[in-house]
Amino acid sequence: MQNAITKEINTTNLPDQDGRFGEYGGAYLPPQLQSVMDEITQAYLEIVQDPAFLTELSTLQKHYVGRPSPVYHAKRLSEAVGGAQIYLKREDLNHTGAHKINHCIGEVLLAKKLGKKKVIAETGAGQHGVALATAAALLGLECDIYMGDIDIKKEAPNVSRMKILGATVVPVSRGTRTLKDAVDAAFEAYLGDPVTQIYCIGSVVGPHPFPMMVRDFQSVVGIEARKQIQEMTGRLPDSVVACVGGGSNAMGIFSAFLEDKQVKLYGVEPAGKGLDTPDHAATITKGSVGILHGFKSLLLQDNSGEPLPVYSIASGLDYPGVGPQHSYLHSIGRVHYESATDREAVEAFYGLSRMEGIIPALESSHAVAHAIKMAQQLGKDTNILVNLSGRGDKDIDYVMENYPLVEYEPQNNGNGFKEFLAHIKQK
Ligand SMILES: *Cc1c(COP(=O)(O)O)cnc(C)c1O
Repeated sequence: MQNAITKEINTTNLPDQDGRFGEYGGAYLPPQLQSVMDEITQAYLEIVQDPAFLTELSTLQKHYVGRPSPVYHAKRLSEAVGGAQIYLKREDLNHTGAHKINHCIGEVLLAKKLGKKKVIAETGAGQHGVALATAAALLGLECDIYMGDIDIKKEAPNVSRMKILGATVVPVSRGTRTLKDAVDAAFEAYLGDPVTQIYCIGSVVGPHPFPMMVRDFQSVVGIEARKQIQEMTGRLPDSVVACVGGGSNAMGIFSAFLEDKQVKLYGVEPAGKGLDTPDHAATITKGSVGILHGFKSLLLQDNSGEPLPVYSIASGLDYPGVGPQHSYLHSIGRVHYESATDREAVEAFYGLSRMEGIIPALESSHAVAHAIKMAQQLGKDTNILVNLSGRGDKDIDYVMENYPLVEYEPQNNGNGFKEFLAHIKQK
């Protein structure tokens, strides 16, 4: 579907009327929720043609989020790697430190225009909860965030952030007491009152219209980056790389390049402790077709269609499903899906920190890891654009504790980075 947000980019006109990207997507819902989704779809399609809405959105993007985020040529990293030029789209510089604020502001603005009083969502590590609580505070709506009580204990700083921002954190103490049951609890709460509340999904997943809506709100990333890199280099990049959890930051940057057939697109999934272990969340690489949380896509599931427990060092990436548009883009071969392990992500985390003074989120570090691997194989006149989806402040304690620096500085000479790169190159 074309609308005013995406008309700047020549998208492929997907999803269709039923929210399908080829065989993927759609809406698999109880009838009561189906009519609610139809209402949201209708309202969204009207609102994105409304100049007042678009002005309010772009004003907040500029003056509140801090858009456009820069594109930065990581010269020292590129030189050290010794191959292609690596450019970073700096979504880590947004207010709240990641790309999630882009769609949260869009969703809460929509909620407000629909006359809703409250936005609700689930959260795992708390990143989506914090972004949504931020947008709700900004626009004066109530906010309930459902969170497993195990996660509440683990993610204390994000729980505090949400509370400070005025959100109610609702503990979920059944089942796994983590993300999966938080989703179920939030859906139930939504079913209980779909009139005054609205569910705000955290990625390009869930039933139609969410994969379309969240992609459209994130498409600003690609629209900006496509212009910026052409201004800097005089041409389009050779490749674009992004990490894929649910897939929103990747769809945000890819959407502007889908029609540029010469630009190769790479989604990077979390290989965790290895693709041959159960401890990964590489949904496209290892998954099969199924239905989860109201949409059809590739999933990591057992023989009876139950989602498998998944794992990644980056909590934003450990979801057993993936946005339906990614499954579609994989099926037609437009996007290549690769993976990076925990350890490769940590190496990229330290590498980017040391070479550029930028501490990336562990999620984004997966994309950086793959870009480093690619860059080594390519010539100096090749340009790789990486979506740096977020900053790593949230990850520093975990990394220092579990991957001590000394492991990465074999010569222990205070500037072990050359050795570090040599170590990557050996592999
Ligand atoms: C949540 C998160 C992701 C993963 O979500 P996508 O929908 O796949 O983009 C990636 N990076 C950061 C920094 C995140 O917070």
